Amino acid sequence: MSQHVEGIVYLVGAGPGDPGLLTLRAARLLASADTVVYDRLIHPEVLTHTRPHARLVFVGKEGGGESVAQEEIHTLLIAQARLGRTVVRLKGGDPFVFGRGGEEALALEAAGIAYEVVPGVSSGLAAPAAAAIPVTHRGVSGSVTFATAHRTGQAPDWAHLAGAETLVLFMAGRRLEEVTLALIAAGRAPSTPAAIVEAGTWAHQRVIEAPLASIAARAREEAVGSPALLVVGEVVSLRAQLPTLARTRPGVAGPEQFLKVEAGHE
Ligand code: SAH
Repeated sequence: MSQHVEGIVYLVGAGPGDPGLLTLRAARLLASADTVVYDRLIHPEVLTHTRPHARLVFVGKEGGGESVAQEEIHTLLIAQARLGRTVVRLKGGDPFVFGRGGEEALALEAAGIAYEVVPGVSSGLAAPAAAAIPVTHRGVSGSVTFATAHRTGQAPDWAHLAGAETLVLFMAGRRLEEVTLALIAAGRAPSTPAAIVEAGTWAHQRVIEAPLASIAARAREEAVGSPALLVVGEVVSLRAQLPTLARTRPGVAGPEQFLKVEAGHE
């Protein structure tokens, strides 16, 4: 009989971009992992938490190229765990928010592999915050809907999405025109404040704000790329009242700046 120690897979959220938004638990797990399987949209600094001899496997797609098939990722995670390895499967944002983490959990469950999920800061929360948009606000919006514009084999329920108080739409990029027209056709006022947050919390973050009817055209003018979120709702207009926050450059305030501020108080 072969005797071997089974490994474990941690499905870990890496946060929205800014490496300062990685959780302590994620950093500690990265420091203990034998194998790290990671996607695109992971800040390079996040990977510096790994051990020198850890094996790093990139499975994301680069510039529109093909990503590794989901089933291949499952096979890889299972095989690495069966070799007795501690595996960190690192995903942008939160693993269970449009991150296919649920599919990986199901595959690991079916294979009888030990696994855990470590939540991460989702871009759905972090990108609006970094753009000075509170997703809920007393008297303005009492609910927030997270949705994706990209659904396989099924059209989004536009009537439902048009009725959301605050709507945060993932993966809207290429379909912005279609998405905004559909929301308006389903009853959302064309004048509703809207914003696109591109690369939220990354140093090159950009925010584009316009009424729903013209946000797609503005995004085209500004050549908005990926990753980007569309935020629709009255809360977007709060940005104008939060100029201090709207001015803050994300990802810049690191430990050094912090120490300087602290020293200044002495
Ligand atoms: N699990 C991730 C989402 C993965 S889906 C999370 O919780 O954040 C990928 C989509 O997320 C992108 O198409 C984009 O809409 C959004 N996204 C990811 N990172 C982002 C960022 N830093 N700024 C804006 N949108 C982002």
